Amino acid sequence: MCHSRAAAEQVKASLTAWLEPRGLRFNEDKTRIVHVEDGFSFLGFDIRRRVDRQGSGKLLITPSKESVKRFRKRLTADVRSMHGANAAAVVFRLNPVIRGWSAYYRSVVSGRVFTGLDHHVWHLTYRWARRSHPNKSRGWVATRYFGKFHKSRQDRWVFGDRDSGAYLTKFAWTKIVRHVPVHGGASPDDPALAEYWTERRRKKKAPPVDEHTARLLRSQGGRCPACGEFLLHAEHEPRSPREWEQWFMTVRRVLAKQHIVEQVDGQDRTFYRLLHAHCRRQILAGKAVHQP
Ligand SMILES: [Zn+2]
Repeated sequence: MCHSRAAAEQVKASLTAWLEPRGLRFNEDKTRIVHVEDGFSFLGFDIRRRVDRQGSGKLLITPSKESVKRFRKRLTADVRSMHGANAAAVVFRLNPVIRGWSAYYRSVVSGRVFTGLDHHVWHLTYRWARRSHPNKSRGWVATRYFGKFHKSRQDRWVFGDRDSGAYLTKFAWTKIVRHVPVHGGASPDDPALAEYWTERRRKKKAPPVDEHTARLLRSQGGRCPACGEFLLHAEHEPRSPREWEQWFMTVRRVLAKQHIVEQVDGQDRTFYRLLHAHCRRQILAGKAVHQP
């Protein structure tokens, strides 16, 4: 095939753009030359090149079928292990798992993959709820555990805990960030293009936290109002769904949201701010927070 070499170069350039922010690079000795039209799997991604009628190729990167299958099994096992626990514990356990996977794949996934996983989780949690209450009706179970827990979404099938208001996040709620296709033959090895790649790396995606947290982070310039330090630290972007999962668990542990009510001209004004959980604890204990 006359275009196969150019196609291979295009694939390599695109993949390098993918790998670099993840701190990975091609090992030339181990790089297999394959017909990319046939596709191949790599780091949990399925990579294939589709040629349109005009003959120009487009690289398609999706979560690999094997990864999706494995992940569905993992979710099944997780929910099954929560038999006997309460709804809040299920939410606490699954949310970082769902967020982690969504974050890793958010730039390559199709809406259909996310929706499919949401259906899967729905079935798992519904079955979990039915098992927890064998003597109750389907209707009772549905009303008890599913509802419009997320205030700004018209979705009455969100799994949640009525007592605490905690609810399960959905894959489909993660915003899909489109991967900017690499221009023609742009190769990261070409020094003239170095700037182009630096620019690409610089345009780091915003952390995939929920919208409210993202808004507060932006308005606070990413800093804790109590100590003045940055609220989130990451040496590099997480490089796997598991690392993302860990990252979300850390975020949950270190960030605290504070609800503040202020009197302005005799009127109650209410707002939120983000603090380090340990700074918040110090404030609650009546201790001064050290400003650097
Ligand atoms: Zn702080």
